[in-house]
This record gives sequence, structure tokens and C-alpha cells, in this order.
Amino acid sequence: MNNCLFCRISAKKIPANIIYEDSEAVAFYDINPQAPVHVLIIPKKHISTSLDITDEDNVLIGHLFRLAGQIAKEKGIAERGFRLVMNTNADAGQTVFHIHLHLLGGRQMHWPPG
Ligand code: 5GP
Ligand code: ZN
Repeated sequence: MNNCLFCRISAKKIPANIIYEDSEAVAFYDINPQAPVHVLIIPKKHISTSLDITDEDNVLIGHLFRLAGQIAKEKGIAERGFRLVMNTNADAGQTVFHIHLHLLGGRQMHWPPG
């Protein structure tokens, strides 16, 4: 997926402030943070939207959530709380069509979200 922004970030063809990487996933700071902590956690595998996740991705998706919790702990926001978001398609405002978990924290979140 040469034209996918997050594939390019995971392949190091575009720079990003990467804070974690393993064979399956990458985490980096969002370029336009919406909270004091705003990290994007992505699989290295290209999956366009949450609707494209299949049975073979079950372990991978679990891995992304566990990474999010690990990073939240490292950033000191786990106890206070944080939000995990995966926007899907237009009404949710998805702009990058490679799934990513937004990890947002370090401030009081509001509900309902905008
Ligand atoms: P979405 O709107 O698809 O849920 O989220 C895409 C996110 O990617 C946005 O929060 C946006 O700020 C972030 N983003 C877009 N382009 C870049 C980039 O080149 N680098 C980084 N680090 N984040 C990006
Ligand atoms: Zn991709």
C-alpha cells in the first residue's frame, strides 16, 4: 500500500515521532494532538477501516488494545483514565484509511463526544 500514509510511516518512508514498535504494530504521536497525550496505535498490516477486520486479525486487534493500555501506563494516564477511539468512515470523521486507535488522555474527556 504505497500510497497509504500510515503504511508509509510504518515503513519509515515518512517521519513520525514513533514511541513504540514491534513486528506487528507501531505507535506514534498524532501530528495534530487533541489532548495532552494523543498517540496513534496502528497495525503494520494495512487494514482500511474497522469494517475490514477479519477473523485472522483477532490477535492483532487485541494486541493494539493491550499496547494502548501499556502506553497509557507509561504516560501516567492509566489511573486517571483515557479514551480509545477508532473512527470509521465519513460520519465519524475518518481521514486516514489505515486503522488506528487514538489514545487520548491527560485531560477530562467529554461525553457525548463531538
Ligand atoms: P482519523 O481522522 O482518520 O481518525 O485520524 C487521523 C489522524 O491522523 C488525525 O488525528 C491526524 O491528526 C493524524 N495525522 C494525519 N496525518 C499525519 C501525519 O503525517 N503524521 C502523524 N503523526 N499524524 C497524522
Ligand atoms: Zn496502510
